[in-house]
Amino acid sequence: MTKIIGLTGGIGSGKTTVANHFRSLGIPVYIADEEARKIMQSSEVLDSIKEAFGDTVFENETLDRGRLAEVVFGNSDKLIVLNAIVHPAVKKHFKEWVLEHAGFPLVVYEAAILFESGNYKDFDWIITVTAPKESRIQRVMERDGVTREQVLKRINAQWSDEQRFPKSDFIIENIDSEIVKSKTEEILKILKIKQNES
Ligand code: ATP
Repeated sequence: MTKIIGLTGGIGSGKTTVANHFRSLGIPVYIADEEARKIMQSSEVLDSIKEAFGDTVFENETLDRGRLAEVVFGNSDKLIVLNAIVHPAVKKHFKEWVLEHAGFPLVVYEAAILFESGNYKDFDWIITVTAPKESRIQRVMERDGVTREQVLKRINAQWSDEQRFPKSDFIIENIDSEIVKSKTEEILKILKIKQNES
């Protein structure tokens, strides 16, 4: 049976970078945020969003993700409502994706909020990517063209590494790109052995 590796870490830690290493090593990768973005365009999800949040988060029948983010950010009740619409849809889509990849012994599911969503219980192993806070801030500012304050807000809204580490099977420290690559290969070797043993 296909084993699922959960890959997580705070904003700007380098999850997608590690996910791409796994991909280059032949492991199918599901990037939850990317898939969620696509799923949010499905008519089923759009209808539920309209029902819950009204027309104000739409611009000419198109979902205005920025406005929706403004509505839910800092309002935990509204965030719960949005998550209750989007998370089950992503979960269902991921289940189908795993079945489509049944021929692969290992697959990776990458998500920023693996622990926060409670999803972490669904995985066979969890890898957390970490990097010094200052590097994360600089990398995200550069990548997204956002301010330091905006990055800090997002960091503070997520779990800390101290919360993530005890629930992780492996930790990848992302400072030097080459070391990250070899660490990814090393973990993959271990997991292939574990998969063969199971
Ligand atoms: P997010 O949670 O925002 O999706 P992420 O954890 O997936 O972030 P990445 O997108 O992989 O993080 O990395 C953040 C940025 O930092 C990217 O622009 C990436 O190219 C860059 N980056 C990643 N690792 C390193 C590194 N070791 N040295 C320099 N830059 C890096």
